[in-house]
Amino acid sequence: MSETTSKAKELKNALFYKNENAFVKMGAQETEAAYDFCEEYKSFLNEAKTEREAVIKVIELAKANGFSEFRPGTFYTEGDKIWYNNRDKSVILAVIGKRELSDGVRICAAHIDSPRLDLKQNPLVEESDLAMLKTRYYGGIKKYQWTAIPLSLHGVVIKKNGEKVTVKIGEDESDPVFVVTDLLPHLSQEQMKSTMSDGVKGEKLNILVGSRPFDDSDEANNIKLNIMNILHEKYGIVEADFQTAELEAVPAFGARDVGLDRSMIGSYGHDDRVCAYPALMAILDTEKPEYTCITVLTDKEETGSLGNTGLDSSYLKYFIADLAAPAGIDPWTVLSASKCLSADVNSAFDPNYADAFDKNNASYVNRGVAISKYTGSRGKSGASDASAEYLAEIRKILDDAKVCWQTGELGKVDLGGGGTVAKFVAMLNVDVVDIGVPVLSMHAPFEVVGKADIYAAYRAFSEFYKA
Ligand code: MN
Ligand code: MN
Repeated sequence: MSETTSKAKELKNALFYKNENAFVKMGAQETEAAYDFCEEYKSFLNEAKTEREAVIKVIELAKANGFSEFRPGTFYTEGDKIWYNNRDKSVILAVIGKRELSDGVRICAAHIDSPRLDLKQNPLVEESDLAMLKTRYYGGIKKYQWTAIPLSLHGVVIKKNGEKVTVKIGEDESDPVFVVTDLLPHLSQEQMKSTMSDGVKGEKLNILVGSRPFDDSDEANNIKLNIMNILHEKYGIVEADFQTAELEAVPAFGARDVGLDRSMIGSYGHDDRVCAYPALMAILDTEKPEYTCITVLTDKEETGSLGNTGLDSSYLKYFIADLAAPAGIDPWTVLSASKCLSADVNSAFDPNYADAFDKNNASYVNRGVAISKYTGSRGKSGASDASAEYLAEIRKILDDAKVCWQTGELGKVDLGGGGTVAKFVAMLNVDVVDIGVPVLSMHAPFEVVGKADIYAAYRAFSEFYKA
């Protein structure tokens, strides 16, 4: 090697940015810790497939870790741990810090809803000896991915007398499962000619639930009757009770390691449990922080954060106001001094679809948690564009603690785009930036994430709370 070449190499090392594999940087010990962390995460995925199930699990873990239910009007002091349950669909956990609330709080916000098939209000139909439940999809899905896979049914039915019935069918090995049928390839000449968005129409996402008549009489809708009778015997519900229900069909399979090296996890609902779980673990591990730390696990992100359990509502603002009131501090004083990590997933670079990404700005599986300065679409439309100053603060926290991180952009310019809860947090005059785990096959029934990235997310949120 000539002297000039080695000089160039040296200079490159000093000047160029390298986005490296996180396992290489982490070493054996931290890698083992990451794999261990992911075992518990897989259990969480399997137990909390819907926002309601996530809230139940989160509160159970909060209680076990010394948290108590938030009581507005209470003056909380250093080290106090509280949770606030918003309508069983979103939840806030907080650990009170040493400093006054007027110095601001540290917020990690992730979402616990995921794309799925929701039952319509009058879902049960019988067609040609098959009973089916009609659905309307929730969130952004590629409809063809939801056919011919086993589905389970989760949710609640509120009966006329006010009684709430919890439904969960298809998760236990002994349970039946459900399915949306697809056309056989032999007869799909026409279907295969249609575009991928038209190949399976939304109104065809009907869930197969039965095919056996109630009896041998010639009554019409005998198969539907049998299904309604089974539901009545099991839950005491009648058909009209579907109108006051929230039933969600999700993939019936559980989380599994992916790859011979088990370096990844495949599962339904990584978006955004893969950030919600690390944000939950980070707050559960937090003891007497400098600033009050808050983990918000919200609902409705996948449909635009609207509704009173989504972050476009005022529930976070009101929680802060209620927390600050006993100390005589105005909520805007707290919020204006606060900082937030909007913890949501990023699109991982996929070599099979390299054309969709700018290689220089995409995030990669197992290169660490990904920070996105902006989201949105086209010319940053709809984006909450984080400031260079705030990015520098977060960079310092992560670098000082040797957390593996990278940057990430949601695909090539003008190819599409998306948003997160960041803009709703920014509306509260809080400093906020998007950070999260890169995902392959995002919004598919079986999404893939890297174990090093999950652990890096957990470490990032923990260090943010410590700072
Ligand atoms: Mn998300
Ligand atoms: Mn999403």
